[in-house]
Amino acid sequence: VDRIFSGIQPTGTPHLGNYLGAIQNWVNLQEKCSSVLYSIMDMHSLTMPKEPAVLRQNILDTTAAILACGIDPKKCFLFRQSLVPEHAELAWILGCLTNVPRLLRLPQWKMKRASQNSEGTVGLLTYPVLQAADILLYKSTRVPVGEDQVLHLELAQDIAQHFNKKYGEFFPVPKAILSTTKKIKSLRDPSVKMSKSDPQKLATVSIADSPDEIVLKFRKAVTDFTSEVTYEPTARPGVSNLVSIHAAVTGLSIREVLHQATGLDTAHYKMVVAESVIQKFAPIRNEIKKLQEDKSHLIKVLEDGAEKAKELAAPIYQEIKRLVGFQ
Ligand code: ATP
Ligand code: MG
Repeated sequence: VDRIFSGIQPTGTPHLGNYLGAIQNWVNLQEKCSSVLYSIMDMHSLTMPKEPAVLRQNILDTTAAILACGIDPKKCFLFRQSLVPEHAELAWILGCLTNVPRLLRLPQWKMKRASQNSEGTVGLLTYPVLQAADILLYKSTRVPVGEDQVLHLELAQDIAQHFNKKYGEFFPVPKAILSTTKKIKSLRDPSVKMSKSDPQKLATVSIADSPDEIVLKFRKAVTDFTSEVTYEPTARPGVSNLVSIHAAVTGLSIREVLHQATGLDTAHYKMVVAESVIQKFAPIRNEIKKLQEDKSHLIKVLEDGAEKAKELAAPIYQEIKRLVGFQ
C-alpha cells in the first residue's frame, strides 16, 4: 500500500502556488490514503538566511495556514521536521552516495544562490539530499510535488536505487504525484515561479492576504501590451498566468474562464481574477486568524505528529544502520 510524504518550508504564509500546486492535493490525499505524512520543513528553511524569531513565527503561521486549508491531523501525521532527528542522520548517509556535480546542476541551486548574492552554502547545495532523506526515512512510495520539485524527486529516486544496489533492495523508488495545476508564476515576472522567498512583495499573493492587498497585487500584475485576454503560456506568460489562476480557484476549465473573459480587457480581467481569489480564500483567511490565536495548540499538533512520525521511522532507520554497518 502507498505511503505518502510531502512537505512545505516555513518561509512565510503559503501563497496561491503552494495552495493550488500542493496543499489542495494534500487535502484530497489524506482522504484517500491511509498512511500520509506532511512535514513543516524547518531544517530546509535554514538554507536561506533567517532570524530565529522569524523562523519560530513562520513555523506556527505555516501550520495555521495548512490546518485552515483542511489538513486534518487525525487523517495524517503533521509534524515539524527537526523534531525527528533521523532526517538529518539519514541525509548524511545518503549524502555519501551522492555526486557533487549532480547537485551543482540543479536549477534551484543556481537560482537561490544568485538570489542570495553569495557563493552558496553547503546546506543550500545539499538540501535536495535532505529531501531524499525526508522521503526515504519512511519508505514513502508517493510524493505529491509541484513541477518545480520534479528534478529533486528524480534525485531521490536515483539515490534510492543507488542505495539498493549497494546495500541490497530496501527502499521503494518513490513516485511523484504531480498536481494538475500548472506552476503558478510570479505576478511581477511571469518567467519565474511564485515563491514565498521572493523579495518583491507584489510578486506573491499569500492565502492570508487582505482583499485590498489582493486587488493591489493583481492590479500591478505584469502583463503585456495586448489588451485582449488569451491563453498562450509561451507568447503571453503574464496574462496566461492570470487565466491559470482564475481557472484553478474557480474550478473551471481554461476554456470556460476564457469564455467568461470575452470582451474584457486585461485591466478589467485582473479585477475579475482578484475577486475570484478573494472569494476563494475568505473563509480560509478567517480560519487562519482563529488558529493563530492558539499558539500552544499549534505547537501540540506538531509535537504529537512528530511522536507518531518517529515511531514510524525508528524501525526503518534501525534497519538502515544495520545495512550500512553502523550496527
Ligand atoms: P521558497 O521560496 O521558500 O522555496 P516556495 O514558494 O517554493 O517557497 P515550498 O515550501 O518550497 O514553497 O514548496 C511547497 C510546495 O509548493 C511544493 O510542493 C512545491 O512544489 C509547491 N509550489 C511552490 N511554488 C509553487 C508554484 N509557484 N506553483 C505551484 N506549486 C508550487
Ligand atoms: Mg521552494
